[in-house]
Amino acid sequence: MSLFACPHCNVVENTATGFFWNAKRREEVRCSECYSGKWHGRFPKMQADDEWILDDHQHGSDVWPPFITKPIKESS
Ligand SMILES: [Zn+2]
Repeated sequence: MSLFACPHCNVVENTATGFFWNAKRREEVRCSECYSGKWHGRFPKMQADDEWILDDHQHGSDVWPPFITKPIKESS
């Protein structure tokens, strides 16, 4: 699975649950709530804040919006 930030509301969405692969144009990409008016509920809604970084696995591809990931923090 891959995650991306919704270009419209900046919420973290999954490519499988949001409107991503079916988007014909970049401008059409959006999260499930922006697309259907209702959040899918598969996982909690969260904002793509500063803790999210670009996913390294995406290097070399031109997918848009870029995939993001959240580093696991070491608890010390
Ligand atoms: Zn959205």
